Amino acid sequence: SAVPSIALNNGVEIPQLGFGVYQVPPEKTADAVATALEVGYRHIDTAEMYGNEKGVGEAVARSGIARDQIFVTSKLNNGFHRRDDALRAFDQSLADLGFDYLDLFLIHWPLPGIDVDFVETWKAFEEIYASGRVKAIGVSNFTPHHLGRLFAETEIKPAVNQIEVHPYLAQDDVRAFDAEHQIVTEAWSPIAQGKVLDDPAIVAIAERLGRTPAQVVLRWHIERGDVVFPKSSSRERMAENFALFDFELETGDLATLTGLDRAERTGPDPDTFNYVP
Ligand code: NAD
Repeated sequence: SAVPSIALNNGVEIPQLGFGVYQVPPEKTADAVATALEVGYRHIDTAEMYGNEKGVGEAVARSGIARDQIFVTSKLNNGFHRRDDALRAFDQSLADLGFDYLDLFLIHWPLPGIDVDFVETWKAFEEIYASGRVKAIGVSNFTPHHLGRLFAETEIKPAVNQIEVHPYLAQDDVRAFDAEHQIVTEAWSPIAQGKVLDDPAIVAIAERLGRTPAQVVLRWHIERGDVVFPKSSSRERMAENFALFDFELETGDLATLTGLDRAERTGPDPDTFNYVP
């Protein structure tokens, strides 16, 4: 059944389920995205950092699907937080994708402690948005105190905040803060790169429902209202991860999954991560 859309704070609609291409090798990306589009995905999450925007653009062009039927997100790489660098990097992303507009562009990491303040970067994003070449702008890996600075010092509220969320890192504090400020939360590494799939509580729910552990975890995200884009390189798993809209979890099962939270990250902590290539 069809993937629902969520309205962002500027009215733009985003498909709640997409396909992520982190760690998909550049030379394999066009084929992987082509397969995802065949399976039915209409939302692709890439980044300059992943080095595979060309492959994403190639698959979209080859698919014959109208550009406006596919939602594509990319992210500013860490070395380009200065205003002029951010403007140039956005142009380069568009050129690599072969697009004349992007659906969503994100600041990938806040990078506290580097010599450029992310407020300057966000002001550059406001300029890009004003140019009409991106439908929405947002952030990734921002915590409430980073967002608070944007609210105080800039004009436009981010449309999304893309953060690590899965049953071992439920992030209900940041998610509630996002919601309070009309910011949609996108959950990255939604199955913790596979780490949550052997959890006995998750396996038990999956067995009872006749579903897979990945489907149960992804369905938990959907019912919490977050946007997700699991990554896989096999067509079978892409199809499995796409089949989330013909079953529901009971309140008790949702609570069981949320109760697995143990503040365990698979990726870096945004308050200390400041790697610039
Ligand atoms: P994920 O949680 O989507 O897990 C992907 C891995 O899980 C795959 O490599 C595969 O080995 C396994 N897998 C996938 N489907 C499966 C299934 N049905 N059954 C069993 N195993 C399965 O991890 P991810 O790729 O890190 O996160 C998804 C997307 O989130 C990325 O591709 C990227 O687009 C985004 N992301 C963003 C950031 C950020 O800083 N903004 C960081 C990491 C990821």
